[in-house]
Amino acid sequence: MADEHPEREISGMTVRIDRSLCIGSGNCTNLAPEVFVIRQDNIVDFKEEVPDIEAGRLEESMAICPVDALILEDEEGEQIVP
Ligand code: SF4
Repeated sequence: MADEHPEREISGMTVRIDRSLCIGSGNCTNLAPEVFVIRQDNIVDFKEEVPDIEAGRLEESMAICPVDALILEDEEGEQIVP
């Protein structure tokens, strides 16, 4: 079974997905297709290889989530999304 709370370090920040909240809207995958992908269960997950992308676009792609399934912490561990 897939990890329901996968986590990655991207551009020095910590990115978490709460797959139990995702409704598969695709907003995040549209804005950051290098990072996020919709799996066969219609729920988002990380791409196999996640590159560092611009912090601003990463934050935007996560803040746009309608159900707050994406959690972003900055370099100091402070939560900036949602
Ligand atoms: S924006 Fe949120 S609800 Fe939509 S696919 Fe991404 S994580 Fe899921």
